Amino acid sequence: MAIEDIIILGTGCAGLTAAIYTGRAQLNPLVLEGSQPGGQLTTTSEVENFPGFPEGIDGYMMMDNLRKQAARFGARYEHAKVDSIELDGDKKILHAGDKTFEARIVIIATGARPRLLGIPGEQEMYGGKGVTTCATCDGAFYRDMDVTVIGGGDSACEEALFLTRFCSKVTLVHRRDTLRASKIMAERTLAHEKIEVCWNASPEAVLADESGNARALKVKKLDSGDSVEIPCKGVFIAIGHIPNTDFVEGLLERDENGYIVPETGSQVQTSVPGLYAAGDCVDHIYRQAITAAGMGCQSAIEAERWLAEKT
Ligand code: NAP
Repeated sequence: MAIEDIIILGTGCAGLTAAIYTGRAQLNPLVLEGSQPGGQLTTTSEVENFPGFPEGIDGYMMMDNLRKQAARFGARYEHAKVDSIELDGDKKILHAGDKTFEARIVIIATGARPRLLGIPGEQEMYGGKGVTTCATCDGAFYRDMDVTVIGGGDSACEEALFLTRFCSKVTLVHRRDTLRASKIMAERTLAHEKIEVCWNASPEAVLADESGNARALKVKKLDSGDSVEIPCKGVFIAIGHIPNTDFVEGLLERDENGYIVPETGSQVQTSVPGLYAAGDCVDHIYRQAITAAGMGCQSAIEAERWLAEKT
C-alpha cells in the first residue's frame, strides 16, 4: 500500500482549510469524509459572521465552496470513517471499517455532534417523530405548528429564530433566567413576537400522542418544582455538542468532555509527532467556523514544516 504524505479526517471548516493549504503546498492531501460531509455548517441556515461575506452566506453553499476550492489544489476525497489509529514509528495506520490507510501526517478535524438530553421519549421520537437537533433540516415540516427549542446559547437562539419562518409559536426552554447567547442573538430572540421563553425549566420528557408522535414537552420549573406540559409537535434540542474523538481513545489525551488536549504552547500539535488536531474536536473555547478554519491553516503549516524536516 502506498503511504500518503497527508491524510485529513473531516470535511468541516478545519479539515477543508487544512486541505486548501496542504494542497497549495503540493502535498496532494487525501481527505476522508465521514457521516456528515461538510460538517456542522451544512445544517446552518445563514452564516453571518464569517469575514468576507457582508450579506452572510448559506452554510451549505459555504462548505461546498470550500470543498471545490480544496479540490482545485489537488485535494482528493474518499468516504471512510476512521475507527482507530495505530502507530508504526512515524507512520500512522488508519483503520476504517474494512479499509486501511497509511500516512506520514494525519490532521484530525472530525468536529463535534449534537448533545442530547437523555430524557424519556427523546430517542423514541428522534428523527421523524418530533424530536430533532436541526431546524434547518426539519423546520419546514413544522409549518403552522407550535414547537419548543431547548437551550440558552447561540445555537438555541438561532434555531428558534429560524423556526419563526414556519411555526406558529416557538417556546424556548432554558434552565436559567438569562440567556448564554451573544447579546445580539439574545436581543433578537427576546424581541421576536413568535418566541416565548420558558425560563428556569428543565426538560423531563417528550410526551407522545396515540400515533407515537410528539405532542408535548414536559418540563420541571426549577423555581417552583412544578412539572408543566408545553404542547408542541416538534422539540428542537440545541444544548451544545460532543467532540467526535472516540477513535483516539488510548492514543491521545482527551479532557473530561472528550476534547483532544494539544501540547502546551500549541493549539494543534498533539502528543504524537506528525499528528495534529484542528477545529471543534480540540477547541472547547471558541468553537467558531472562523477559528476552526484558522486551526486548519495552523495544522497545515505545522504539517508542512514537520514533513520538510523529515524528508
Ligand atoms: P453552548 O453555548 O454551550 O450552549 C448550550 C446551552 O444548552 C446552554 O444554554 C446550556 O445551559 C444548555 N444546556 C446544556 N446541557 C443542557 C441540559 N442537559 N439540559 C438543558 N439545557 C442544557 O452551545 P451552543 O449554543 O451550541 O454554542 C456553542 C458555540 O458555538 C458558542 O461559542 C456559540 O457562540 C457558537 N455559535 C455561534 C453562532 C453564531 O454566532 N451565529 C451560532 C451557533 C453557535 P446553561 O446556560 O445553563 O449552561
